[in-house]
Amino acid sequence: MKEYDLIVAGAGFSGLACAELAAKNNLNTLILERKYNITKNIHTSGILVKEIAEEWNLPARLTKRINGVRLYSPALDWIDLYSTDYYFFATDMPDLMQWQTEHAMAAGVKIRFETSYKSSKYLNSRHLFENEDIRCRYLVGCDGARSRVARQYDLGKNRSYLIGIEAEYRTLEDLDQDKLHVFLDTGLASGYIAWIVPGMDCTQVGLATRFPAAPRLQEFIRKVSPLFNLDRMQPFSHRAGVIPCGGPVNKFYSENIMLLGDAAGMVSPLTGGGIYPAVHTGRIAGEAIADYLNNDAPDPGFIVQKSLPRFYFKKVLRHLSDKIPIPDRLYNRLFHTPLFQFIAQTIFFHHRGLFSRAAWRDFARILEPVSEFPASRVAAPTGRKQGARRR
Ligand SMILES: Cc1cc2nc3c(=O)[nH]c(=O)nc-3n(C[C@H](O)[C@H](O)[C@H](O)COP(=O)(O)OP(=O)(O)OC[C@H]3O[C@@H](n4cnc5c(N)ncnc54)[C@H](O)[C@@H]3O)c2cc1C
Repeated sequence: MKEYDLIVAGAGFSGLACAELAAKNNLNTLILERKYNITKNIHTSGILVKEIAEEWNLPARLTKRINGVRLYSPALDWIDLYSTDYYFFATDMPDLMQWQTEHAMAAGVKIRFETSYKSSKYLNSRHLFENEDIRCRYLVGCDGARSRVARQYDLGKNRSYLIGIEAEYRTLEDLDQDKLHVFLDTGLASGYIAWIVPGMDCTQVGLATRFPAAPRLQEFIRKVSPLFNLDRMQPFSHRAGVIPCGGPVNKFYSENIMLLGDAAGMVSPLTGGGIYPAVHTGRIAGEAIADYLNNDAPDPGFIVQKSLPRFYFKKVLRHLSDKIPIPDRLYNRLFHTPLFQFIAQTIFFHHRGLFSRAAWRDFARILEPVSEFPASRVAAPTGRKQGARRR
């Protein structure tokens, strides 16, 4: 029987980040990953927020910077949103996963591919794994939104989800490459949005909707085809998956065990962005677990809890949008008002929340005359593309 300090179930963003930092801090670390190859069955669009660039030293070849958001109303009017100090990245997801895996392995992490976490129990300060010749002092569940580790140890479970689907096309020539194209449509993307992302050597077209409604990607493609001629093209691949949207689960840690990433519901309840929280908390957890096992430091679950965003504003908006879905007609009417633009601006660009100084600075700029543009670019040109139909 081989004993590890730390075993992580799942080699996604959170699992790899946690394992890498634990190994760098001298923990003998193993990941169990059910896929046979880390670059297969990718389920995420892979849009990264600016914060990750500040924290993670990503090579330029893996990312493409995108500076703004073009937000479309249900009637396909649009406004452009910017923030002077905020941006996003499209990524080459298979290569990014490969890069993260290589970094973890270079730090000393061992990975067993094609090995699913099935069950284990905690006995005499060790997690004992059924059907595997291994045991460990600390176990971390990074096994996604429907975590088996959470079920096994009776930890908190995600209760509300979005379902997302995305198709990848060749690069669309007439798509503005410096913007995330985001579409509001309560009928097609209830509780969420649809998107077209100018990706790396491709265009990603997708939408998500509140579970259990099925996402109707073909209908969305038909709707935007007058703008982008998508219906004449064939996608070369698809990605799909569930996104927890109820905020962090109630109990994500217990004695010598922790959940991270989607398994712990550490996803922005409104935007569905989970990569940054997965990497950020994964790294904090890896270090804290090492400190706990090596130096008797405080419980790592407590350390991670302190670092978690509260998502107050986004949870309230998620709750409201679930309870009182905004009809498309109302979106169309509110679309060009400063209040609407402020809310959109805050959701897309201010991960530090509604009460951050940056959010209010941008609001002041929204109220400035448009002639100030582009010196203070925030929300400026609006428009309607030729061929767009009013519904
Ligand atoms: C369609 C879609 C688009 C998205 N787009 C974005 C986006 O653009 N930006 C963003 O920030 N977030 C996005 N998200 C959310 C983001 O993908 C997740 O929040 C993020 O991947 C969470 O990382 P994770 O490591 O917690 O889990 P995952 O990435 O889900 O990784 C879990 C890993 O565990 C493995 N696994 C599962 N069960 C077991 C088991 N029993 N044993 C062993 N291994 C197991 C899986 O194979 C997988 O490798 C999107 C999600 C979806 C569904």
